[in-house]
Amino acid sequence: MGGLTVGTIVKGHPVVIGSGTIREAPKGAPVPAVIDSAPAFATSIPAIGADPSLERIEAKIEAGKRLSLEDGLTLYATPDVWGVCALAHRVRQRMHGDVTYYNINRHLNYSNICALSCTFCEFHRKRGDAGAYEHSIDDIRAEARKARDAGATEMHIVGGLHPYLPFDYYTDMLRAIHQEAPTLHIKAFTAVEIVHLAKIAKQFKSADRTAGIRWVLEHLKESGLGSLPGGGAEVFDDRVHDEAFKGKIRSDVWLDVHRVSHELGLNTNATILYGHIESVDDRLVHMNMLRTAQDEALQRLGYETDADGGVTLTGEGAALPTPAMNDRGGYFQTIIPLPFFPDGSALEHLPGPSGLENLRTLAVARLMLDNFPHVKSFWIMQTLAMSQLHLLAGADDIDGTVVWYDITKVGGAGTNQETNVWDLQRVIRDAGFTPVERDTLYRRVERDGAAWRLAT
Ligand code: SF4
Repeated sequence: MGGLTVGTIVKGHPVVIGSGTIREAPKGAPVPAVIDSAPAFATSIPAIGADPSLERIEAKIEAGKRLSLEDGLTLYATPDVWGVCALAHRVRQRMHGDVTYYNINRHLNYSNICALSCTFCEFHRKRGDAGAYEHSIDDIRAEARKARDAGATEMHIVGGLHPYLPFDYYTDMLRAIHQEAPTLHIKAFTAVEIVHLAKIAKQFKSADRTAGIRWVLEHLKESGLGSLPGGGAEVFDDRVHDEAFKGKIRSDVWLDVHRVSHELGLNTNATILYGHIESVDDRLVHMNMLRTAQDEALQRLGYETDADGGVTLTGEGAALPTPAMNDRGGYFQTIIPLPFFPDGSALEHLPGPSGLENLRTLAVARLMLDNFPHVKSFWIMQTLAMSQLHLLAGADDIDGTVVWYDITKVGGAGTNQETNVWDLQRVIRDAGFTPVERDTLYRRVERDGAAWRLAT
C-alpha cells in the first residue's frame, strides 16, 4: 500500500506511522491504514538546519508563540529529525536550564484482574487465570512500609478494572498507606479506573457523569489521594478507540476526569500511547486537545490568555505553575509519551515505533504542548539509554527508581525493572545535565540517605 503525503491529511485518513517488517495480522485484527513505508523516519538524516521548512517554526518558538497543527505536521514530515530535537531542546533549556528531574518512587499494581480485554494489553487477567492476583490491604500496608523505609517520596498505584472489589477497598488502601507512611505522596488511579470506581460505587450516571466522577475523587482525596497519573488516555480518536481500546472510556470522559480533578485542586499528568494503529494526525489532535484542557486549567489559576487565545509557558521568563496555586485548582504537570509495545498483545503483528520515531515524538510533544511544564521520558518503557537521548530532545524528567512495574516488561516476561539513584544521576550527568531530585509535585528534595525533606 502506498503512503499518503504528510500535509494532505484528512481526519481519519492516517499517514505513515512506522517502518519495518509487518508480521501477518490475525484475521480481523486492526491494522494501521498505511504501513509499508516511512519517508519521515527512514530517509538519510541531513545536518541540523538543512530543512528550511523549520525556519518558520523556529521563528515562532523564538517569539514564544503557539505552534499550529500544520506546524506539527511539518515537524513530523521533515527528514531533519535532529533539527526538531534541537528546537525542542532549546525550549526545554529556556524552561528548565540544565536541570533534569528524577524521583525516588515505588510502583504498586494492586491487581491485574480486569473486566476488559483491550487488544494492546498484556497485563490483564481474569479471576482464576494463571498469574491473576489481587493484593490485600495488609499486603499494601507492607508495601507502604517498604517504600517509606527505602526513602521513597511517592507511591504510584494503578491496576486493572477489578469487577468485584468494593469501593471501600480503594479508600481503605489509601488510608492504610497514609497511616503507614504519612509523608508518602499517593499518585493513584488512571481516569479509566476513576470512572470504573464511580460505577462500582453506583454513582456513575450517564446523564450527569461528572457528578459521579466528582463524588469518587472527593472521597479518594479525603482518604489520602495526592494526584492522578496520566494513563488511559491512549490516543484521543474515536476510530482508534473503537478498534483498539473499545470498552475503555473515550477522550471526552478522560478529559472530564482530569478537569474535575483540577477543579478539586489535584494535579494530574497526561500520556499519549503511540505507534500502533493511530496516524500522525491523530497524535497531533491528541496533543491539541490536551493543550486546550491545560489552557482551561491555567486560566483557573489566574493565567491570562495571549493573542491566540491560549496560555503558553515556553516563552522567555514565563512563570510555571506551582503547588502553592492548588487552592485555586490543579493542572497538568507532565506529558509522558509512551511507545506501544506489541509483544504479547492482540496487536502483536504490528512493528511498534522505532527509536527515531520515539525521539521525534517526544520532541514534537515538547514543542506542541507549550503549556505543559514538564516532559517525562519514562525510562522503564524507553530504556535508560534511550531516555538519555530524550534529555537532548526536550525531556526534563526521567522518572524514578521504579520497583515492580508489571504493565510493560522491557526485555521479556519476568523482568521487573529497577534502577538506583546513582544510575539515574550518572545517566543525567553524562548527558550534560544537573540531576535534581523532586517530589511528585516537582518540589526539590533534600536527602540524607532514606531521610528526606522538601528544600526551602
Ligand atoms: S489496558 Fe487497562 S482496562 Fe484494558 S485490559 Fe488492560 S488493565 Fe484492563
